[in-house]
Amino acid sequence: MHDLVGKKALITGGNSGIGLATARRFIEAGADVAISGRDPVTLAEARATLEALEPVQAGRCKVLALRSDAADLGAIDGLIAEVAGAFGRIDVLFVNAGIAQAAPVEAVSEAQFDAMVSINLKGVFFTVQKALPHMGEGGSIIVTTSITNRMGSPNFSIYGACKAAQRSLVQSLGLELIARGIRINAICPGPIDTPIYGRFGLPGEMEPGIRAEISRKSPIKRFGTPDEVAKVALFLASDAAAYVVGEEIVVDGGMSLL
Ligand code: NAD
Repeated sequence: MHDLVGKKALITGGNSGIGLATARRFIEAGADVAISGRDPVTLAEARATLEALEPVQAGRCKVLALRSDAADLGAIDGLIAEVAGAFGRIDVLFVNAGIAQAAPVEAVSEAQFDAMVSINLKGVFFTVQKALPHMGEGGSIIVTTSITNRMGSPNFSIYGACKAAQRSLVQSLGLELIARGIRINAICPGPIDTPIYGRFGLPGEMEPGIRAEISRKSPIKRFGTPDEVAKVALFLASDAAAYVVGEEIVVDGGMSLL
């Protein structure tokens, strides 16, 4: 596997799902890792899990678990300042925090629209902007998009639009940032088995049916695991991806080919 020995990483939404699996991979590869999220309980649990891991090199990696709202610009300032203060710099930024709320077009409220755009678009852009002064030559930024940005996804129109905007940001910033030696790329997951399916704002009894229908439709006939995404994040973070710029890597078991 790829090596991140001595690298300093920040993963937003690192207390759950894809972010937590990636934090695990990054630490095992030798990075010091800061994770952020909103829930203090899962942040503390994630920190304990990560601190118990064995990195590739001798000695312990540093783990920071910081409470920070990805939609709040002041909170993003505070998060970046804390990580830069503790680590001295940021080599790898994984902008991964996100929410998906399901609603048919008539039912989308202004509050829902604003919440999704604030976290999934505004927060993503400003996290990148505010981290940049602490990043330099060889830095890697990764954004978690979604296959909803390339397929129609009924009831997820705003979520899909935010993810398409993220993909566009990655292409434009890919060209802007490579001049200073910083690569930005996207990971585009299909259905991955994380707690996000319980957070769609739908009645809980619908979740098993939704999951079964997704698995039935999937060419590979199952959900992906968070670790299957984390391994791609590790590749993009590492020097193995030194010539990969502004790209979006799809990790979806073939779903978006349908
Ligand atoms: P998850 O719900 O397990 O994780 C989402 C993370 O985002 C959590 O750690 C949560 O704390 C964080 N978060 C949400 N709102 C936040 C806020 N305002 N401030 C700070 N943190 C916040 O789900 P996941 O599946 O691991 O999602 C990670 C990313 O992957 C998201 O961007 C999601 O859109 C994307 N994604 C997931 C799937 C999937 O099937 N699981 C598919 C495509 C894309």
